[in-house]
Amino acid sequence: MSEKKLKFNSKTIHGGQKPDAGYGAVMPPIYQTSTYAQTTPGGHKGFAYSRSANPTREALEKSLASIENGKYGLAFASGMAAIDAIIKLLNPGDEVLSTNDLYGGSYRLFKQIFEKYNIKFQFVNMQNADDIKDHITENTKLIWVETPTNPMMNILDIKAIAAIAKQHSILVAVDNTFATPYLQVPLDLGADIVMHSATKYLGGHSDVLVGALIVNDKKLADQLYFIQNASGAVCGPMDSFLTLRGIKTLHVRMQRHCENGKIIAEYLAKHPKIEKVYWPGFEDHPNHEIAKNQMNDFGGMISFIPKGSSYEEAIKIVERLELFTLAESLGGVESLAGHPASMTHGSIPKEERLKSGVVDSLIRLSIGIEDADDLIADLEQAIQ
Ligand SMILES: *Cc1c(COP(=O)(O)O)cnc(C)c1O
Repeated sequence: MSEKKLKFNSKTIHGGQKPDAGYGAVMPPIYQTSTYAQTTPGGHKGFAYSRSANPTREALEKSLASIENGKYGLAFASGMAAIDAIIKLLNPGDEVLSTNDLYGGSYRLFKQIFEKYNIKFQFVNMQNADDIKDHITENTKLIWVETPTNPMMNILDIKAIAAIAKQHSILVAVDNTFATPYLQVPLDLGADIVMHSATKYLGGHSDVLVGALIVNDKKLADQLYFIQNASGAVCGPMDSFLTLRGIKTLHVRMQRHCENGKIIAEYLAKHPKIEKVYWPGFEDHPNHEIAKNQMNDFGGMISFIPKGSSYEEAIKIVERLELFTLAESLGGVESLAGHPASMTHGSIPKEERLKSGVVDSLIRLSIGIEDADDLIADLEQAIQ
């Protein structure tokens, strides 16, 4: 059966995979090797050195390409390493327009590393795609999109942004970590590059650090592969294996993340001690219409503000949680709670943070796949 015809729920398991050539192993062996024997200089079976290529990593890269409807996948040592490779496509003097409400680590990489090399970053509210036009200059080479945004759960219209970018020959990269291809497929909406912190939902079990890029264009794939091989931040064989195993259950996990997310968002919205809940599934969410068109469901990421709460009280609530673990990260089978102002977004200056709504009392939840009743009971005791 042609690979292209498979539906998403089958691609997660079979996409780009075939039994191993050696002994027919159904899961690719963990080829824990740095180098490969050659019969004569250059005489090898496609693998010469594991920074350049490794069979376990290649199996993962094919799976990544398949689930994101792309032709080429690249697996990195972390999400940040994948973003780093994208920005290295640019030259001094080039400009990037970035979502203003984004992962704190991306902001830090842009501002504190790449601005030193004279690449300029503008952080723009992209909820109205047309607003981007005012910021485009002849030096704009990349638009950086994260949707749902982190941690405010705004939804950006990838198709509209990509259409504007195309008129100006600007590349569009989408950080698809929060949504995963279960919810949205950016390449199908006109994006040029899809990026993942596969550390999160794709891996799904909080046991690896992995990054991913997926593209359709051969020239872009070659440039990114050149950077990956030259810079060296590749995904190791063991982490490739674990991520591949995680992807095989992505569809069933995401289904439960979404079901639980809806139940908990609705519970919080009705709660007398909660001021505001940010979740794109609500009809009164400012970008709900875009979410409905662009996404297959609304995901398991929720942020909220307790009524009359301060920095200290928000910290008390996250400390009182028992089933939810207070931790950085998201997207694993277990539910996590975080305090963006002091944790994930601590590296963003307070006035930048407040501009996008990340107030001191904001709490972010990554809803896991436990029983929703138990999660609600835990939230109830922590909020009361
Ligand atoms: C975690 C995360 C990253 C960074 O990925 P690492 O794997 O931690 O390096 C980038 N973007 C988003 C949205 C993330 O959540």
